[in-house]
Amino acid sequence: LHTVTLPLPDEAATAALGRRLGAVLRPGDLVALRGDLGAGKSALSRALIRSVTHEDAEVPSPTFTLVQTYDTAIGPIWHFDLYRLSGPDEVYELGWDDARAEAVALVEWPDRLGPLLPPDRVEVTMEHDGPDARRATLTGHGTLAARVATADWT
Ligand code: ADP
Ligand code: MG
Repeated sequence: LHTVTLPLPDEAATAALGRRLGAVLRPGDLVALRGDLGAGKSALSRALIRSVTHEDAEVPSPTFTLVQTYDTAIGPIWHFDLYRLSGPDEVYELGWDDARAEAVALVEWPDRLGPLLPPDRVEVTMEHDGPDARRATLTGHGTLAARVATADWT
């Protein structure tokens, strides 16, 4: 398994990673975003979405709505925050099949998917490394392993 570890000394570095991710994703891809509350999962997602829409786009956290959808230069993006999901099957009510069929899915709290977590995915784990510093670990699984391994992350 190919893993890339990236230091993110400030929020600008996280935003730059979001832009790089946006440049390698295609419809049908899923990114599982892991890390504690405040680790920067939503900040990374926001930068990614802005990089493929416009820099001042409204990108609210899907904390309460569980999902936000966007039309972007790389096709639809569905941004999920599944923290409040009561069980895996509830994602179908959020439009999961449509998301998987035609969109890039960015998924915070992917463990909530249980057995529905797809084998082909990019895993991004964000960790605190000081008040304004974070560390990101990227791993490509299944068909996305090669894409993570060959992309330029720096
Ligand atoms: P999560 O979605 O993982 O709960 P958020 O992205 O909502 O986390 O919150 C991250 C918080 O940390 C934001 O307030 C953001 O401004 C702050 N922050 C500080 N430094 C960084 C960094 N290097 N990367 C991402 N966020 C950072
Ligand atoms: Mg969040």
